[in-house]
Amino acid sequence: MRKIKIFDTTLRDGEQSPGASMNVEEKVQLAKQLAHLGVDIIEAGFAISSPGDFEAIKTIGAEVQGPVICSLARAKEKDIKRAWEALDGTPKKRIHTFHSTSDIHLKHQFRISQEEALKRSVEMVKFARGLVEDVEFSPMDATRTDVGYLCDVIEAVIGAGASTVNIPDTVGYSIPSEFGKLIKTIFDRVKNIDNAVISVHCHNDLGLATANSLSAVLNGAGQIECTINGIGERAGNCSMEEVAMTLRTRRDLFNADTNIVSEEIMRSSKLVTKITGMSVQPNKAIVGDNAFAHESGIHQDGLLKDKSTYEIIKPETVGLYKTKFVLGKLSGRHAFRTRLNELGFTLNDDEINSAFERFKKLADQKKDIFDEDIEALVSGDVVKVPEVYTLIGLKVSSGMNQKPTAEVKLKIAGEVSEKTEHGDGPVDAVYKAIALMTDTKSSLLKYEVKGITGGTDALGEVMVSLEEKGRAVRGHGADTDIIVASAQAYINALNKLAAGNPQLDNKLTL
Ligand SMILES: [Zn+2]
Repeated sequence: MRKIKIFDTTLRDGEQSPGASMNVEEKVQLAKQLAHLGVDIIEAGFAISSPGDFEAIKTIGAEVQGPVICSLARAKEKDIKRAWEALDGTPKKRIHTFHSTSDIHLKHQFRISQEEALKRSVEMVKFARGLVEDVEFSPMDATRTDVGYLCDVIEAVIGAGASTVNIPDTVGYSIPSEFGKLIKTIFDRVKNIDNAVISVHCHNDLGLATANSLSAVLNGAGQIECTINGIGERAGNCSMEEVAMTLRTRRDLFNADTNIVSEEIMRSSKLVTKITGMSVQPNKAIVGDNAFAHESGIHQDGLLKDKSTYEIIKPETVGLYKTKFVLGKLSGRHAFRTRLNELGFTLNDDEINSAFERFKKLADQKKDIFDEDIEALVSGDVVKVPEVYTLIGLKVSSGMNQKPTAEVKLKIAGEVSEKTEHGDGPVDAVYKAIALMTDTKSSLLKYEVKGITGGTDALGEVMVSLEEKGRAVRGHGADTDIIVASAQAYINALNKLAAGNPQLDNKLTL
């Protein structure tokens, strides 16, 4: 059986989803989960694009064991050098360099000839090989490139030492039969093809990224570039969970599999949602809320008699467990800690103590505590930010025919500060007071509130996105009182802005 390599680019292409930028701590946290998930290669960033990307690649390279760590670089010496510097000290490293090959790009964007583009590509692969063993090359916009020329480029870069050649459908233009044929043509025509792995990188503009990637596998591709939940530039990338579970479920057809530990899929999906603030649509394959929900009576009847009647994947296989462990008022610290570990959270003693206090407080207000409640309670601890601002008091009055008023008490760098403000509603009043006290210049891009579980005593979870000078951050808060949760989310985001993680916007993409 063939082993297909999973090249995860959630941290690079995925981060280019509008509004999904992540800070270094968030990237490291996610990279650790990607290692648990069993991906073969992590594209940790694009070293030259920003100090934040550089730092993330360096830290991930030092802290995350297992997968090969990769940095993207344009076919330019300074880019490749910067990638190499970021990967210095990483035991398993790869430089991924790329150059456009399509006439559209060469004529209109780069204004250079095919010969010139080929020469540069070869030179830069050689340059990268002088620094690291493992070099990947991508002819950008491959699916709109003249096939004869594309094959020449591939043969030349393999000759120059590229051990992986990636075929990107940069604009998401191809369809499965056509893309499969292209991969087959490459295998037929490129003489030294056996010296490299052929990879694919498909975008989902026509909803065909997964189908195109699988068609490529059927025609010889040995690596798939993908992201968790399919996030990425525009309509996103090929979704990791979809290709991995298709290959596993239809091993009979593909005669291929991956190293993915499928039981880690749900956890990875949830972490990406939590960190990027991008929710998964309920009907999304594999990881959507409804992916395993059977509503039809005939289906339910069949399932009760035998699961295999209508279920092609067992929910447990992707890490989805039906029986929810319910904790309550009488649950002790040990049960709480055990459940946290089972849910995949690793917190230190201080964090456990503080989370346990919040848990007890919640248990006083709410009878049954579900996994989702626990996840919401500790989400703020997953990625730590230093607290410049702490919410220590909040009082709100609002109602019909009454001007909403908020009294907010904050600790700002150790000093207690208080302010009373009016607003259109209670949240507006609270946010106005906080904005004045913290003197923030940020603007609120998004405010979302949702109930975590059923019932009026449910925990309310609030997510906000703030932007300041082109930097976007997300904040998270959870409480049975949604006004308190709203204040916490805002403060959490302001703390992230204060912590400062530079993100530049000169991103390029494949
Ligand atoms: Zn891409």
